Amino acid sequence: MHRVKSDLLSAHIGSKPSKTWRAICDGIDVLKQGLIKRIGDGATTLIWACNWIPRTGIFRPIASKVPEPPVLVSELIDHTSMTWKAELVRNCFFDFDSDVILQIPLSMRKQEDFWAWHHETNGLFTVCSAYRMLVETKKNREDYFGSCGNCSDVQRIQKEWKHLWRMKMPSKIKVFCWRLAHNSLPTGSVLKNKNLANTANCKICGAEEDTWIHSLLQCNISKCVWALMDEDLLDLLASLRFSDPKYWVSYICCNIPQADGIRILVTCWAIWYARRKAIHEGIFKSPFSIMIMINRLIEEFEFVQGIDFKEKDLYQEKSRTHNWIAPQNGLSKINTDAAIDRTGTKGVVAAVCRNDQGGFIAASAMVIPHITDPETLEAMACLEALAFAEDCGIRSFVVALDCLNVVKNIREMP
Ligand SMILES: [Zn+2]
Repeated sequence: MHRVKSDLLSAHIGSKPSKTWRAICDGIDVLKQGLIKRIGDGATTLIWACNWIPRTGIFRPIASKVPEPPVLVSELIDHTSMTWKAELVRNCFFDFDSDVILQIPLSMRKQEDFWAWHHETNGLFTVCSAYRMLVETKKNREDYFGSCGNCSDVQRIQKEWKHLWRMKMPSKIKVFCWRLAHNSLPTGSVLKNKNLANTANCKICGAEEDTWIHSLLQCNISKCVWALMDEDLLDLLASLRFSDPKYWVSYICCNIPQADGIRILVTCWAIWYARRKAIHEGIFKSPFSIMIMINRLIEEFEFVQGIDFKEKDLYQEKSRTHNWIAPQNGLSKINTDAAIDRTGTKGVVAAVCRNDQGGFIAASAMVIPHITDPETLEAMACLEALAFAEDCGIRSFVVALDCLNVVKNIREMP
């Protein structure tokens, strides 16, 4: 016998379900796809976690425009006149949501919210209606994947995907976005759902539920990388409250300036790449080096866009995974590196400082216009390392650079 601890809709299948209980759970899943809260006073309906917006497709708002949006539907209602607080609704939600919300009729009579079956105007569930809904959903999904949709939602999503494919990004990043949108990146929670892992834990920080949001935005590695980004972009990211990655990706592709969109998606890809390196190979990249990789990818691709397709292979990023060697106890170690911009007009030098345990202390980078000679740049990277050690008050340190000639020249200096 299975005891349902809370209400039926939040029942879980559990670890050893009986056949009957499994069938009931399947039925509950069908119910959830068609049940919607009809709004009375809004006091028991959670804006972001309940189905309550009557339309085809998703019954929840897709995102909030403000960082701390209201939680309960009742907060959106003026209870004296029993009308929607139109201005608040317009401020908090995108048109796609607010247009429908403001059309939801409110009753003057004091009434609690109640569940109804969305697919019948009288709100009553019948098996026949559920069957019709399932057939319709299946058809919509096939239309969506088979690109022959006829409902406006499908068309909108198709348009958004065309947008994604047209964006100036390397195709490996587009494929990554496609997988992210279909929630098929192997995060802890996806693996757990497919019974490929025992827990949904994050393998980096140990968080309980490693969802796509956790992996890409909230895990400690991710947070450090995002922290290096432009503040405007961070504000924008914080305002997006999509739990479905499809809407998140499509919003980024279509509703924000393309350069920002590309930066966000490339950053997600780089974070994912760094996570995999850390989890599968034990190689931890510093947030700063991840950021350099992101900048390189973006610059490289902008340049490759302008050249002959066949030449592209020449510009593929060479994999450079040096093993870091720890300095003597008590010393810090500054690794330097230099690179030439693919357009051949400027150089970049960078320095990363770590303690004897490999812990990240500080990092710095500098773009040097017009200088493109590798040895000169390596030497300047070394200078930058010394200057930055002084700035940070690091007294005992070693500098590592990977250009033998520069090392020799420094040694031979009078
Ligand atoms: Zn984590």
